[in-house]
Amino acid sequence: MLYYSTRDKNRRVTASRAISDGLAPDGGLYIPECIPRVSAEKLEALCKANYRERATYIMGLYLDEFSEDELRAMTEQAYGENFETESPAPLRFVDEETAYLELWHGPSCAFKDMALQMLPHLLTASLKKCGEERNVCILTATSGDTGKAALEGFCEVPGTRVVVFYPQDGVSEMQKLQMVTQKGSNVLVSAVEGNFDDAQTGVKKIFGDKALAERLNEKAVFLSSANSMNWGRLLPQIVYYFSAYCDYVISGKLRCGEKLDFCVPTGNFGNILAGYYAKRMGLPVGRLLCASNANDVLTEFIETGVYNRNRSFHTTISPSMDILVSSNLERLLMLLSESDSEVRTYMETLSEKGCYTVSDSVRQGVQETLSAGCCDDVRTKETIAAVFNTYNYLIDPHTAVAARVLDDYREKTGEKHPCVVVSTANPYKFASDVLNALGGEAEECRLLEALSEKSSTNVPAPLRGLHDLPVRFGGCVAKADMSALVENYLS
Ligand SMILES: *Cc1c(COP(=O)(O)O)cnc(C)c1O
Repeated sequence: MLYYSTRDKNRRVTASRAISDGLAPDGGLYIPECIPRVSAEKLEALCKANYRERATYIMGLYLDEFSEDELRAMTEQAYGENFETESPAPLRFVDEETAYLELWHGPSCAFKDMALQMLPHLLTASLKKCGEERNVCILTATSGDTGKAALEGFCEVPGTRVVVFYPQDGVSEMQKLQMVTQKGSNVLVSAVEGNFDDAQTGVKKIFGDKALAERLNEKAVFLSSANSMNWGRLLPQIVYYFSAYCDYVISGKLRCGEKLDFCVPTGNFGNILAGYYAKRMGLPVGRLLCASNANDVLTEFIETGVYNRNRSFHTTISPSMDILVSSNLERLLMLLSESDSEVRTYMETLSEKGCYTVSDSVRQGVQETLSAGCCDDVRTKETIAAVFNTYNYLIDPHTAVAARVLDDYREKTGEKHPCVVVSTANPYKFASDVLNALGGEAEECRLLEALSEKSSTNVPAPLRGLHDLPVRFGGCVAKADMSALVENYLS
């Protein structure tokens, strides 16, 4: 199966090339040229399989250059003891029609691990298949969760280095601690003066620096990215939609073949797009609910067909969803319009005017599957408290946004179909706001214990003792010095 760029259908490459490159050279995103189908019989068979077997099968449909044995070895390593739970993605029911899909039992305590524990295996194998002999340096700007997940995923992976930049004042204390105490001989972490946009622009500038690329090439190094524009990050995410469906069936609360809705807390549109792929592959998905925080650009888009980033940016208690340009939406536009020139026009209009309107047929295609809703910080906190008080179940602010949007949707439609709320972070990762939502308060260094006492739950192992670890990366650079830091590190 080949992959093509959303901005040029004639630019076709193998899966290994798409994964090695991340982004297409024309700025587009790679997508598979067709979508494989999973039959009803196969779905029944997958219900009996474990997560690793499900992952081997689903990923194999898109990766014909990889043998089944090769993929099995990868899924066993990616989804093994590095996760706290028997299944890396367990379902937790709160009532007959509602379950939370917990995607945060990995080393960084957020759902990015589902993809970033797999990506290093996919990437190193892809580089080999492409005959690439240089070392790769993964360069990332993070608003919090991607950075730690990339560090954990690539730590001590031969032939790779990782450099992570985070905004000095833009991440939670816990997220910062997770990164600056990272172990490993092939990692570098630095704060950047400014906000996430400054870090992100700095990184993009480094990627665009041809002279730097040339100098690195002489040292047999090249730069690549671990953000969700890479197909190698999206593909592992399709798996957990299948897995959640199978586990719902196993629970006896759904018959195989019946429809299941999903409600997804959304930022860059990667997570929910994986759900859309699962539906197109034949998984009986009903509606996909796209949940946003106060940054409601996607809510408006799904309801009206107008994408408008010209609005104020809100800093919220669900920071991983604070985003105005959802990059992966470009892939959905391609799937619905089937026209690279149409996608190119939308993206050009977006970069010139900050706004575009899709055709009637694309809007109808969007609305056929997706519904949307949003939720501000006050209602997010109310929801954390309500879910805890009603079900004795603790959720993080991102997940709470989705929980609230689902409630609103059920109230509006007057129907209660079976639905999975995709739960994206461990509540302890955002201990301060979660504790606050439950009416508690504590000093920074006592937050985890205080939340544990208040909620009668356990502090997750990866966050325990973080305060006692030595800080390895205390530095902060000006935006102008990011490039030199990277080059020095790689020399
Ligand atoms: C990254 C992230 C999201 C948003 O996911 P997208 O794929 O960018 O839509 C939601 N919640 C958490 C906790 C995240 O880390």
